[in-house]
Amino acid sequence: MSFIEVAGAKIDTRHYIGGQRVASSQTYTNTSPIDGTFLGEISRGGEVEANEAVAAAKRAFPAWSALGPAKRGELLLRLAELVEENIETLAQLETMDNGSLLRSHRRGVMPRVALNIRFFAEWAINELKHESFETRGHTNNISWDPSGVAVLITPWNAPLMLATWKIGPALASGDTVVLKPAEWTPLSASFFADLTKQAGIPDGVFNVVQGFGREVGAVLTAHPDIARISFTGSVPTAKVIAHAAADNLTPCSFELGGKSPLLVFADADLDLAAELAVEQYDNAGQVCLSGTRILVHEDVADAFAEKFRERALKLKQGDPRDPETDIGPQIHQVHFDRIKGFVDRAKAEGQEIVMGGEPNDELGGLFFKPTLVKNPTPGSEIVTAEVFGPVLCMQTFKTDTEALEMANGTEFGLAAVVVSGDRDHAKRITDELVAGTIWVNCFFVRDLRAPFGGSKKSGVGREGGNWSFDFYADVKNTVVSPNGWKE
Ligand code: ADP
Repeated sequence: MSFIEVAGAKIDTRHYIGGQRVASSQTYTNTSPIDGTFLGEISRGGEVEANEAVAAAKRAFPAWSALGPAKRGELLLRLAELVEENIETLAQLETMDNGSLLRSHRRGVMPRVALNIRFFAEWAINELKHESFETRGHTNNISWDPSGVAVLITPWNAPLMLATWKIGPALASGDTVVLKPAEWTPLSASFFADLTKQAGIPDGVFNVVQGFGREVGAVLTAHPDIARISFTGSVPTAKVIAHAAADNLTPCSFELGGKSPLLVFADADLDLAAELAVEQYDNAGQVCLSGTRILVHEDVADAFAEKFRERALKLKQGDPRDPETDIGPQIHQVHFDRIKGFVDRAKAEGQEIVMGGEPNDELGGLFFKPTLVKNPTPGSEIVTAEVFGPVLCMQTFKTDTEALEMANGTEFGLAAVVVSGDRDHAKRITDELVAGTIWVNCFFVRDLRAPFGGSKKSGVGREGGNWSFDFYADVKNTVVSPNGWKE
């Protein structure tokens, strides 16, 4: 059976290669994290499908790249409209597949998916800087050429949102795409492939291969005929991909994990600080940007902790389709066990768990209670490793110097949140923080024009606005002499 019905939509469980649906002889089982409902048997791609998808994308490249930004833009804008027309279906589908809140998918995530496509299509037409400048009478003309086949490898925590953050600029640049969604969340990408067909995107321009990273993903990333790899996921997987890319020197863009600090200074509005801290449990803590290390000035630590606790205890855990729910299930049993393993080891070490710390037995399944670890031992696993679950640590500091040492003292540098009531103070702190994105008195405000990525082990390169085109395009400088012309 190659179709399944999820949330009233017919979803193809096969790959989408060269505009055709292609099945694999092997499949794997996909279930919903909400209650373990069987969702379908998904085609499990391997070497053959990876090679076919790259070949299809390579064949489609000359015509797509020659089309130019305006003509490509027409098709991409139609695609964005189709996403908008299907927001409800996409929202329900994604919630069934990855367990994130339905209300977030409806209001924020799926509209953002449409914007990811529209924004980059328009940017390619209107904003790319085709600069020219003179050097001793010679003119330098900067142009942005399509580069070839872009392989996009994406994670399960925000499947279509993170995929279109790459698909948008790659297609707008004139590249063709092979997308490998995460194996735990294959459905929205498959439905999206149907929308690309409806939008009139030519066959082979956009391809989806389903399956496991170490199988189909490994072949794609090592393929000699690809021009770019953009990956969002974990640090260990990024290292494997970097090795796979090395033989062909394929340029990689990596957005990886984090263990971001959320700094609460003595001059902060503590209600705001508590609000922002509780937000770090969003998506059941499965957010790379989460400020999972709450660092509080000791003078306000007790008052802050009280406010935090009051709010955190009000969080409602349950079915992500219920509009009242704040925290849904974890994505998969394997990941649930990983989170539980971190917390169990912390307990065994004698770390102080002041909230949660265990599965939510009332709900059963993949629900893990929002957890807070107080004053973890510096350097211990729970405060240095990325848990990627609803597990926050709280520590105190005495001085700004100490706060900065703690904030910057990990191998990561994806994001930071600063809560302070004093602009000069906040500026002094943000100047010293090492992170790709810093939010001051706010969280998760993301403009597609802004650079996005991580410092240190949190990533390689930046995407967003011009930075995306810097990566997906082949930037070219043509130097034209004033001499030698026959006119
Ligand atoms: P997690 O461990 O949280 O699932 P990963 O970083 O392993 O995170 O997964 C993110 C994406 O990377 C998924 O689409 C996964 O299939 C893919 N992936 C995993 N291993 C490889 C690999 N060796 N080559 C290419 N892609 C991979």
